[in-house]
Amino acid sequence: MALRSLSKKKKFPGVDIDKAHKLERICKCGNTYTKFNSLINKCVKCLIVKGKQIVAKETKKAYREQKEKLKTIKDYREELKKALHLYVRMRDKKAGHTCICCDRPLAGAAVGGAFDAGHFRPVSTAPHLRFDERNIHAQTKYCNKWKGGRYFEYEKGLRKRIGDQAVDELKADETPRKYCIDELKALRDKYRVMTKALKWNKTEEAA
Ligand SMILES: [Zn+2]
Ligand SMILES: [Zn+2]
Repeated sequence: MALRSLSKKKKFPGVDIDKAHKLERICKCGNTYTKFNSLINKCVKCLIVKGKQIVAKETKKAYREQKEKLKTIKDYREELKKALHLYVRMRDKKAGHTCICCDRPLAGAAVGGAFDAGHFRPVSTAPHLRFDERNIHAQTKYCNKWKGGRYFEYEKGLRKRIGDQAVDELKADETPRKYCIDELKALRDKYRVMTKALKWNKTEEAA
């Protein structure tokens, strides 16, 4: 079939048909194409598909870059919060911990937020500790809903978990924190890496 089409000289003016025939190749898709030069490595149909994929990829990349440029410090804080909270849920679930307040099991998957990463000293009264690992632990949604109401149960659990000295230090900590965008990004990436390092088992996750 391909040979017949190549024999129509008009289609390839100035092309040596014998040579073109020798250059005939089979594309991955099964179509035949002529390898006129090293850049052509697929049939026309596949070249078009590939071209569209490249354009789509470039468009996506440009969109991502544009989006990144428009991000504010608030967005980076939100990203850090997400990364840190996911890490905390993974950390505590992996360690086999129960809810820091009530000792109930942390049911369900860490991803998707079947249980929460809750603050001991609430963000409302201790905003400087909002990104402090010591201050954030896995909690059932029920207990997290209580917010400050579970403070005393949380403290009891926390003393068992991280020790009296660490809790006393945390309670006395009034040092203000100010994070610039680069610090927020670095922390976000640190927690993303740490979460990955926990090598969360996908099947366990789905259960
Ligand atoms: Zn093809
Ligand atoms: Zn609880």
